Amino acid sequence: MRIDVVTIFPEYLAPLNVSLVGKAAARGLLDVRIHDLRSWTHDRHNTVDDTPYGGGPGMVMKPEPWGEALDSVLASDPGRRPVVVVPTPSGKPFTQELAVELSAKPWLVFTPARYEGIDRRVVEEYGERLDVREVSIGDYVLAGGEAPVLVMVEAVARLLPGVLGNAASHQDDSFAPGPMAALLEGPVYTKPPEWRGRGIPEVLLSGHHGKVARWRRDEALRRTSLNRPDLIAGADPASYDRKDREM
Ligand code: SAM
Repeated sequence: MRIDVVTIFPEYLAPLNVSLVGKAAARGLLDVRIHDLRSWTHDRHNTVDDTPYGGGPGMVMKPEPWGEALDSVLASDPGRRPVVVVPTPSGKPFTQELAVELSAKPWLVFTPARYEGIDRRVVEEYGERLDVREVSIGDYVLAGGEAPVLVMVEAVARLLPGVLGNAASHQDDSFAPGPMAALLEGPVYTKPPEWRGRGIPEVLLSGHHGKVARWRRDEALRRTSLNRPDLIAGADPASYDRKDREM
């Protein structure tokens, strides 16, 4: 997968060289290219923002540097069309479902903004010929889109074939598509069997796969009811009962 990020803070994206994403890039599974938006400005101060039409506080990112930057990124591979991901608190929520969808795309271009965001005409212009997604990582406002890009790239990259050591590990995650999609993952344990007087649930030592699976499902339900009761409405208890009968 190819990933381009256009930003005024290229150094903010340095964590993409580290850990899982960095290793995936080093192994050739990801081709990450970071671009400095200011290299597409033409004035002495490398200006990327201006005052908003209609007045009001804050500045708005000018369309010209974004247009030149995106044209240049697109021209680097004219035979293909990327999905353009525009981080914005006013976008559609970034979910595991969207991460799965994006992980199947060969090329993603991210446009993290600063100030009050990017002049609207940029989304309109590229939205006419490309798949442009305005995406929010949560109901809060950050100073810029770089942190959301780090979040989204990591969520997408770990789903790419070969990136995680064990492909099954993301299939059991909270929100993973499948019969448990509406449930958060339950608690997990590792060795030692006793720590500060605390043991681990007996069933996890039983070696009985069916019982372990049922326990995990029950714990997932318990945790979801407690932390995310809104998700329980989307759960399908009948599918869990069917699964139990198969065990
Ligand atoms: N005035 C904008 C609003 O209220 O929607 C907020 C702009 S914010 C200060 C600057 C930039 O940070 C946004 O354009 C976007 O790139 C990024 N950003 C901030 N919060 C975000 C969020 N929750 N999800 C995705 N991007 C976000």
